[in-house]
Amino acid sequence: MQTARHVQQLRSSYIREILRAATADGVISLAGGLPAADLFPHALLQEALIKVAGNKQVFQYGETRGYAPLLDHLRVTSDLKTSHGALVTTGSQQGLDLIARTYINPGDHIVLEAPSYLGALQVFTLAQANINTVVQTSNGPALMALEQLFASRSVKLFYAVPDFHNPTGISWSLQTRKDVAKLCQAFNVTLIEDAPYRDLRFSGEHLPLVSSFCPENAMVLRSSSKISAPGLRLGSVTGPEEWIAHLIRVKQTSDLHSSLPMQAVMLEVFTHPEFEAHLRNVRIHYRQRYLALAQAINQHLPPEVSYAEVEGGMFLWLRLAQGDPMEIAKKALEKGVAVVPGDVFYSADDIKSPAIRLNFSYCKPEDLNAAIQLLARVF
Ligand code: PMP
Repeated sequence: MQTARHVQQLRSSYIREILRAATADGVISLAGGLPAADLFPHALLQEALIKVAGNKQVFQYGETRGYAPLLDHLRVTSDLKTSHGALVTTGSQQGLDLIARTYINPGDHIVLEAPSYLGALQVFTLAQANINTVVQTSNGPALMALEQLFASRSVKLFYAVPDFHNPTGISWSLQTRKDVAKLCQAFNVTLIEDAPYRDLRFSGEHLPLVSSFCPENAMVLRSSSKISAPGLRLGSVTGPEEWIAHLIRVKQTSDLHSSLPMQAVMLEVFTHPEFEAHLRNVRIHYRQRYLALAQAINQHLPPEVSYAEVEGGMFLWLRLAQGDPMEIAKKALEKGVAVVPGDVFYSADDIKSPAIRLNFSYCKPEDLNAAIQLLARVF
């Protein structure tokens, strides 16, 4: 059967292909966006699963908005205003999809950062949005370019990842957060603040959400994937209640509600007295892994490659002075190391600066070191 026209616009995901190759025996993968499985809160999950298994009520159909005790927890921990609401989603990816399906008409102008999260590019392409991009500086989006975009057309939303961006690892400065919030307010653009890596800061100062400076102009996507385990598939959207109410109507048509037993498990894990210690442990290990990767790059790769230091998250963006990133990724795979060429994170019309994305959360420090030594042979 022929797919619908808008589906034909979707590029087959290069990442999916490379991830398949990356699972082959003997390949070290710096390609995926996978959190470390050895750092999942296994004991807490096991305890929670046993406890929840005894609760018959959570195996019944439930409210689309989510499991009420989890929603209460979210309200408190995300410091929601009384006029704001929350919706539990099946991963933050579903939150993104719901926002696009609820608010985007074909041809609507939206703004993304360049480069941008591939899953967002796919969602907004499928929604047939008119995608405009703004280049990133080391502090966040280039403000003059963003203002020009907002001023030159009617922009519906600006999707951004201000904390430890995927793929670049960049975190916005406090001033940029305030300036972007001001621009969104001035031009009445809705900010979609995607924050799955926010709790993975391992150095520097914790900064407020951008949306805290423009709460009436923003929705925030959160995810349990990087702080507990992605297989649970749970995330949330928060924002002005009337906007959330529309998302709920659309989610009803999609999956009625996210798995209630898993929401109950999530709540048990989040409220467990040892959860904070688990998070601290993840941050400590990710810092060690990042430092091991950075040291290996400094030691083994030629001086023409460069990277901006990151303060958290899971990714490092390796800028290349020359060469085709696709070609380098292909050759790296032949040598036994999987990386993602930066090109896949740009939309078709963008000017792409040559780079590759390196993930440092998944592999142990010794494997990261070995991977960079293999990559050095490609250079
Ligand atoms: N947003 C960003 C920026 C991501 O990197 C990811 C996962 N790689 C997601 C959203 C989706 O996360 P999940 O659906 O697992 O919550």
